[in-house]
Amino acid sequence: MTSEVIAVMGAGQLGLMLHEAALRMGYRCRFLDPAPDACAGRVAEHIVAPFDDEEALDRLIDGATVLTYENEHIPTEALERASARVSVAPSAQALRVAQDRLHQRELLDRLGIASAPHAPVSSVEDIAEALRMVGTPAIIKARRGGFDGRGQAMIHAAEDAPAAWEAIGQRPAMLEGVVSFRRELSIVGVRSQAGEMRFYPVVESVHERGILVRTRAPGPGLTTEIEHEAQRIARAVAEALGHVGVLAVELFETPRGLLVNEFATRVHNTGHWTIEGSPTSQFEHHLLAILSRPLGTTDLVAPSIMCNIIGAIPPSVIRLRDRPVEGVHVHLYGKEPRPGRKIGHVTCTAPTLQEAEALAGRVVPELAGAEGGIPTGGIPADAAE
Ligand code: AMP
Repeated sequence: MTSEVIAVMGAGQLGLMLHEAALRMGYRCRFLDPAPDACAGRVAEHIVAPFDDEEALDRLIDGATVLTYENEHIPTEALERASARVSVAPSAQALRVAQDRLHQRELLDRLGIASAPHAPVSSVEDIAEALRMVGTPAIIKARRGGFDGRGQAMIHAAEDAPAAWEAIGQRPAMLEGVVSFRRELSIVGVRSQAGEMRFYPVVESVHERGILVRTRAPGPGLTTEIEHEAQRIARAVAEALGHVGVLAVELFETPRGLLVNEFATRVHNTGHWTIEGSPTSQFEHHLLAILSRPLGTTDLVAPSIMCNIIGAIPPSVIRLRDRPVEGVHVHLYGKEPRPGRKIGHVTCTAPTLQEAEALAGRVVPELAGAEGGIPTGGIPADAAE
């Protein structure tokens, strides 16, 4: 019996981990991605073509059970077109909102969910006007296409506006006030075709220069109120979108409560710990949801610290290959090392979060960081793509 095919737009590391989960569940993924060296292509069928290539899309969905995506930088028209022939989840409508920062904010505003003060900008003149509203310092973020701090620039004073506009490539953007947050949190949940939702515990995430470096699961010292508030936000967003699959909401914890930074209608870096830390990983859950199968369990079974490997593989990770350590799980994506690029992650699990942190500090000190849990956050000043 040949396994059923799940068609996936995008073949990066999220696709790779979706494929690994699919294999365990008796399925396999087939990918479409214009990058010939996209890492999921090393282990699965990979059609190398632009996302808007109609003939390639036909080949992608040929005989597939369902079509999904692993990043939001794909044309919604392709999903719409495919939906005439195959089940598509999450939907084109959900992606249309998720792939545009301004549309995300419009939805949050409509739902009465708090976020940083923001205003749309499409010219240098707009920035001056918007700065009067959101104040300084502020961050300009391209509406579409940015990730990991790219497509963003800091504005400390009105004089910075022309350089910032230049830095983001003069694209339609959103200006946003800088939030002075206590820390960053993230909630990852899954919504089934029938509308049932389950949530993993809220995690604490630490970013440096706009890139996620570490996730602590569960987030230390979180109250039930915060868990419930995060769930309420994620549920409201998922329901408004009619979302099916995994959804991640990134949050700022502030003295005035939670503010949403952004959300993603796909599997997410802040959910990687679930591969080892929960009975059903986010990747398995995404597949279960889009395949209309019953959801699994989102309990935390092993407190985890997930550290991203960014730019280059450190010596400690290379040593782990020859000398594995119990509770330390290395995931290398097979990507070419490049500054600022996520090329793998390491998850350390232990009976308590403190022990998991101590383990990470001992085994992968370059990745574990020295800070005591209160991140400084911040945006790279020169982070344009
Ligand atoms: P983003 O690309 O919007 O996810 O931003 C990446 C990271 O930059 C966030 O996780 C924060 O660490 C930081 N950041 C983004 N927006 C803001 C903001 N309005 N205020 C403070 N820090 C921010």
